Amino acid sequence: MSRLVTTAGSPLLIGGALVPGGAGVFATINPATEEVLGHAANADASDLDAAVTAARTAFDDTDWSRDPAFRAHCLRQLREALREHLEELREITIAEAGAPRMLTGGPQLEAPIVDLGYFADLAENYCWETDLGTAAPMGIKSGRTLRREPVGVLGAITPWNFPHQINLAKLGPALAAGNTVVLKPAPDTPWCAALVGRIIAERTDIPAGVVNVITSDDHGLGARLVTDPRVDMISFTGSTATGRTVMAGAAATVKKVFLELGGKSAFIVLDDADIVAAVRYAAFSVCVHAGQGCALTTRLLVPRAAYPDAVAVAAATMTGIVPGDPGDPGTVCGPVISERQRARVERYLDIARAEGGRIVTGGGRPPRERGWFVEPTLIADLPNTSTVAREEIFGPVLVVIPHDGDDDAIRLANDSPYGLSGAVWGTDPERIRRVVRRVRTGTLSVNGGLWYSADAPFGGYKQSGIGRELGVAGFEEYTETKLIATAE
Ligand code: NAD
Repeated sequence: MSRLVTTAGSPLLIGGALVPGGAGVFATINPATEEVLGHAANADASDLDAAVTAARTAFDDTDWSRDPAFRAHCLRQLREALREHLEELREITIAEAGAPRMLTGGPQLEAPIVDLGYFADLAENYCWETDLGTAAPMGIKSGRTLRREPVGVLGAITPWNFPHQINLAKLGPALAAGNTVVLKPAPDTPWCAALVGRIIAERTDIPAGVVNVITSDDHGLGARLVTDPRVDMISFTGSTATGRTVMAGAAATVKKVFLELGGKSAFIVLDDADIVAAVRYAAFSVCVHAGQGCALTTRLLVPRAAYPDAVAVAAATMTGIVPGDPGDPGTVCGPVISERQRARVERYLDIARAEGGRIVTGGGRPPRERGWFVEPTLIADLPNTSTVAREEIFGPVLVVIPHDGDDDAIRLANDSPYGLSGAVWGTDPERIRRVVRRVRTGTLSVNGGLWYSADAPFGGYKQSGIGRELGVAGFEEYTETKLIATAE
């Protein structure tokens, strides 16, 4: 813990300088212990204005946007510097986000750091200009060149559940494409972002103003970033409710918006699947990081004939997962992020009971003195139209629903305002293919396949968002297209 104390009072990064916040400091809290870990700089509106000014100047008045080789160098430098601070970053992530230690070897920390290299490579190898050849519209012979250019100043607004994955999945491609960034992380995980900001300032050649980090306990700063006319684009990850507000706020200045929002993804078990293996996998995965993953499959759709057995297997699996200290290497399910989030999860469990649901296992708090823990909870006997089957809970909660064959399973999976992710388990490849093609979501896992990777675009259909993160598609989100026609 002593290393963490050195990070206390983590500053803002504005225009290349590490500075205190105009609104003083705010506490960052360990969700596993409820202890104040320390404090982070609390930005005010004038800090945000200064950050946008710095990003605007760095974009308009430097060569950053026109020098992809230098950007690739800076991203690789950042990757190496983050690696050198890996253990400090790991301890902060566990302490501040309540992230299980085992996940920091993957998507919670190490994977997104490695992925910066993918975007450095893209900056160097991407085809920035394409010759479209000659055409003669209205008889005017014209040679056409298609160029990709950065959008400009990016406002990046992020949540707390996977702070590094989400911050770096925006910074990596946005910087590779030549944008400058104002990053506003969630109030619950300021240190995760502030330390990356410090490393950028102290350990890389990234020019002043190219990355600015604004920590604050005021959500209003996010709203201000969205409406600032000097900001060209907003990349937002968070709840669908806030996403709607962001989209509406961006309309006044017709900003490009990129939205990664909530989910209520379905795990479809076909009747030729190994049902026990499938249900165990589904029940286990919904407990990972206390269910605080937007793409987790929180609706388990099982063949009606197998429903009683599936309920029993899922309940046994979830009962066996004991929420624990996220610092322990064996912990899968840590705390939820805050007292508020725990109250939100518990409210949903009350709604499930009130709507006639059966809490098969869990439903309460584990016997721990401190920390915002929730027992892994299985809800049965509610239809797909129930509140807990429609709304995102963001806790270790699984709803199990019977289906009457492939068509019914597809119908149930698609009967959701969301379309982020999903899973299909079965044996017959032709049946699986038919199901996969009809489920309307941005990612799908078949029989346990993993879609998360730097080169694989991730994002949602319907109210789960607009656009894709990662991959070439994720990089191109941060570009504009310019067509130049030269008379010949
Ligand atoms: P949230 O929407 O409450 O907050 C996200 C961010 O938006 C925070 O930085 C917050 O300060 C900021 N914000 C709040 N109000 C704002 C406003 N009016 N204008 C601009 N910014 C504002 O979400 P959260 O509780 O931090 O995170 C959980 C949610 O994030 C879940 O719904 C989850 O599904 C979603 N999420 C989605 C993905 C994805 O890729 N689709 C990934 C992770 C999390």
